[in-house]
Amino acid sequence: MTQKLILVLNCGSSSLKGAVLDNDSGEVLLSCLAEKLNLPDAYITFKFNGEKRKVDLSAKPDHTGAVEALMEELKAHDLDSRIGAIGHRVVSGGELYSESILVDDEVIAGIEKCIPLAPLHNPAHLLGLRAAQSIFKGLPNVVVFDTAFHQTMPEHAYTYAIPHELYEKYGLRRYGAHGTSYRYVSDETARFLGKDKKDLRMVIAHLGNGASITAVANGESRDTSMGLTPLEGLVMGTRSGDIDPAVFSFLAENANMTIAQITEMLNKKSGLLGISGLSNDCRTIEEEAANGHAGAKLALEIFIYRLAKYIGSMTVAAGGLDALVFTGGIGENSDIIRERVLGYLGFLGLHIDQEANLKARFGNAGVITTADSKAVVVVIPTNEELMIAHDTARLSGL
Ligand code: ADP
Repeated sequence: MTQKLILVLNCGSSSLKGAVLDNDSGEVLLSCLAEKLNLPDAYITFKFNGEKRKVDLSAKPDHTGAVEALMEELKAHDLDSRIGAIGHRVVSGGELYSESILVDDEVIAGIEKCIPLAPLHNPAHLLGLRAAQSIFKGLPNVVVFDTAFHQTMPEHAYTYAIPHELYEKYGLRRYGAHGTSYRYVSDETARFLGKDKKDLRMVIAHLGNGASITAVANGESRDTSMGLTPLEGLVMGTRSGDIDPAVFSFLAENANMTIAQITEMLNKKSGLLGISGLSNDCRTIEEEAANGHAGAKLALEIFIYRLAKYIGSMTVAAGGLDALVFTGGIGENSDIIRERVLGYLGFLGLHIDQEANLKARFGNAGVITTADSKAVVVVIPTNEELMIAHDTARLSGL
């Protein structure tokens, strides 16, 4: 038990998300979001005691400016001296890190080494890390990698069927993402079901704007749908997920598109947004599908069908199925998607409990299958920030 609070930072190239957590209760005392960093109109919004406050960052519109503003805000609420350590989300730890780690010079060099695997994210994480080191002087910093949980994937799951020298030379393989969420949710699922996680074969679907699915057995990741980058796998808000790689040469020859344009299209203009022509937001897609919009109906059906197919394949990776878990904004809230996905999976002996399915939303965990189901289907809210706070407290000795 500690009175110290943990600051969790998640830095993107133009944004910084922060939260101050009580590691014991999980309570978030203060949160912030800096946006438009490196642009003249950068700003940061703080949330404290239910009230929001926006602060202009134009005098110093970078990550350091944002962390300085955060320090001022903490001082204003007498929270600065209560922060005991800082935890940082890092997108890629490549094959170097299979666990969270206390930051020293060697770790900073390691994150730099992984930049080719996360060229937009890792440099931003390093900016946030350096800003935290200089502004919160003397506090321990811990890094928590999105990829770490998936380092237990067997070679046959992470290797692409391309010339092996490309893996040896460039580290070109599948790494996965959302690992911190999967670690949290697999522990929570075991706790919720009153089982040892070593005895559970789980398939966990993390469905947010980015979406992926992971097979977990013996508490370890056995396979996951995201690959070298988050583009592989499920249909997402704006990402295509799996696609024939020959799409690149087809579009280059027929639409005169460059590699950069095609990559951007597959990452930012595809998925629910691309199919529907309306929105990447699942709520909007569900509403418009209910109103009869053809694009929204098709987008929803493809999302659901591809997810159901992936659940089938992940039961192979998990060696069977004891628990199918839904998490993330869509997984935690969309009873429609859960019901329709389970509609495809009756052959696995999964039977939905309609009433329980409707109740499992807005942060409520719950089993949504009937007692005669061959495996349980359960909704478990994720909490990546709390997982980062736990690792940070443990590794900092708090
Ligand atoms: P991120 O990947 O950005 O963390 P979230 O996990 O917050 O995303 O999930 C965002 C997605 O969850 C959006 O597509 C949003 O529409 C969807 N969502 C949130 N609430 C509901 C709901 N009640 N029904 C359907 N989708 C929902």
